Amino acid sequence: MKRRAIVWFRQDLRLHDNEAVSTALRMAEEVIPVYVFDERVFSGQTRFGFPKTGRFRARFIIESIADLRENLRQLGSDLLIRVGKPECLVSELARDLKASWVLCNRERTHEEVFVQDALEQKLWSSGVELLYTRGKMLYHTQDLPVPVHHTPDIFTQFRKDNELITPVREPLPTPAALAPLPQYIERGDLPVITQFGHADTETTSSAVLPFKGGESEALRRLRYYLWDKDLAATYKETRNCLTGGDYSTKFSPWLSQGCLSPKLVYHELKRYERERVSNESTYWIFFELLWRDYFRLMGKKYGNKIFLKGGTQGKPLKHLKNNRDSFQAWAEGRTGVPFIDANMRELNQTGWMSNRGRQNVASFLVKDLKVNWQMGAEYFESMLLDYDPCSNWGNWNYVAGVGSDPREDRYFNILTQAKNYDPRGEFVRVWCEELARVPAEKIHRPDLLTELERQEFGVNGYPKALVRIEKWVS
Ligand SMILES: Cc1cc2nc3c(=O)[nH]c(=O)nc-3n(C[C@H](O)[C@H](O)[C@H](O)COP(=O)(O)OP(=O)(O)OC[C@H]3O[C@@H](n4cnc5c(N)ncnc54)[C@H](O)[C@@H]3O)c2cc1C
Repeated sequence: MKRRAIVWFRQDLRLHDNEAVSTALRMAEEVIPVYVFDERVFSGQTRFGFPKTGRFRARFIIESIADLRENLRQLGSDLLIRVGKPECLVSELARDLKASWVLCNRERTHEEVFVQDALEQKLWSSGVELLYTRGKMLYHTQDLPVPVHHTPDIFTQFRKDNELITPVREPLPTPAALAPLPQYIERGDLPVITQFGHADTETTSSAVLPFKGGESEALRRLRYYLWDKDLAATYKETRNCLTGGDYSTKFSPWLSQGCLSPKLVYHELKRYERERVSNESTYWIFFELLWRDYFRLMGKKYGNKIFLKGGTQGKPLKHLKNNRDSFQAWAEGRTGVPFIDANMRELNQTGWMSNRGRQNVASFLVKDLKVNWQMGAEYFESMLLDYDPCSNWGNWNYVAGVGSDPREDRYFNILTQAKNYDPRGEFVRVWCEELARVPAEKIHRPDLLTELERQEFGVNGYPKALVRIEKWVS
């Protein structure tokens, strides 16, 4: 009898650099690829009652699965698609198909670990082995100079300890062909977004990118950013801009779902440096990818602490309250602070927000509105196209001052930030229609508009600020 291995795809929705696929192909004559839309993740709610997977990411994942199925078909195989609980459905498949192994990428955060542990328990009862593979990070933990639990808490130290000496392994090749699946196995239909309770609406044309899910789009974006447009050469100068598709790589949604391997990005970047240009900008993309590894390592080192109010430092933070009114105004982009509202409205209408925007809105929620940062982190979890547990909760820990930021009490002066990064108010005008006619010198100061000006510029629907904007004037 042919040996069978099931590859259970999770956040590794690609065929290039996929250790589970490569290993399965070495071990078994038949490889059965499967993806399960976990009903708890796609239809469930977070603790504060937001949809666990908002509509933008839900659509992105459905597109990614459609692309993965198509790519597997091109290689002669197919993708089984199921909706339900992965631990039940994958174990049933393994039993029914008499598989010897199930392979999957190992996850490290508690909800994901719960599912993989539950699957392992079920597989044991039918004598099937669960094998874990890797693929999330640039670095392999065994190549790091210190064990995970000794990872420095300060990013700069982590970076210095690794960037010159720790190798980034070559990405694994995409398989050339796969054996066809037996005819009798039910393939399963791709769900539609309305199945998960979301409306099937188009994203606004003001979005920075259409962000279509899948490995094919991810590889297209990588090629576009590096080779077609040479944007990597100027990344450091443009990365803090707020409008347009090209100011930063926009790789994060594809990296988060594993449509793109970070190792592939790194090696393409190295090739770009050899063949085109090597400068501070190209280095800085690598630098940012190191942040991603660092937060993943913090997640491994501190486990559930990254989700707790006290964060990795265990600070009490009694002054931060679950204030629903302030939170709601923040979430809906109605705080009366144009730079905050524009960023939140962009998130609500597209699932995207720039890194500059994220830092500002997070700081504002925690430091100015004094709202419990966990509410903000959960809202991001729901809404972000690129949500990743370690990057999201790690960054929120950092901004809330409960992570490992060496600068005590980091604070963003929102007005200064707005004037530095949106000096003419172009970004605010895209998202806050009420302010579209306000001249540049007052766009970030609606509090200074006279009643006559409010009428003249038609801003009367715009809310009064929740905080005194004047406090940011030095
Ligand atoms: C409060 C807050 C929450 C965040 N939540 C997430 C999240 O859920 N998922 C996520 O991928 N990023 C998150 N980030 C990090 C960062 O904002 C995004 O990775 C970045 O904006 C994505 O845009 P880009 O792909 O164009 O990044 P680029 O600037 O082009 O950077 C290249 C890649 O480096 C990685 N990267 C860059 N900055 C960071 C960072 N600070 N932390 C971790 N990785 C980074 C990303 O994978 C990114 O794609 C968060 C940041 C903040 C402040």
